[in-house]
Amino acid sequence: TVERDELTWELFGSASRQLARQVAEGGFEPDLILSIARGGLFVAGALGYALDVKNLHVMNVEFYTGVDQRLDLPVVLPPVPNAVDLAGAKVLVADDVADTGATLKLVRDFCAEQVAEVRCAVVYEKPWTTVSCEYVWRRTDRWINFPWSTLPPVVRREGQVLDA
Ligand code: 5GP
Repeated sequence: TVERDELTWELFGSASRQLARQVAEGGFEPDLILSIARGGLFVAGALGYALDVKNLHVMNVEFYTGVDQRLDLPVVLPPVPNAVDLAGAKVLVADDVADTGATLKLVRDFCAEQVAEVRCAVVYEKPWTTVSCEYVWRRTDRWINFPWSTLPPVVRREGQVLDA
């Protein structure tokens, strides 16, 4: 079996606090946090409380279909953040991991056209990522088990179609 990194719920609690501290100590004061669904929602929620930012937004990007199983390109699914909300803002993008970096590249490019400043916070960063994040809790070259996606869903949903 392949070695994995295991993030427990408990460890996630301290990881997200440390990540928030990095952001605060670096002097960045985001107007809003943009979470990348679904994994980034947990990170964004934790950072929102720790940094006292209530303005949370969601962008949904689909790229992985399984362990190391990727689509050719990351795809943006609804909800797409409102350009009016992002205009001129200092944005903190929150995600679980920068692996290839393709997801964060897409999000950064999407933001670059409209926001004042964009910085990224991730729990993990892989050494080969094409986008380097300003705030990283840990670096690893292994596959990570996140507490929210390690167990299988409690229901089986076949042929689920996401809203277009
Ligand atoms: P990237 O676009 O940087 O290759 O990958 C971003 C997304 O792929 C992450 O937000 C995450 O959902 C998924 N992903 C990439 N690497 C891992 C990993 O090691 N473990 C898990 N559970 N998901 C991963």
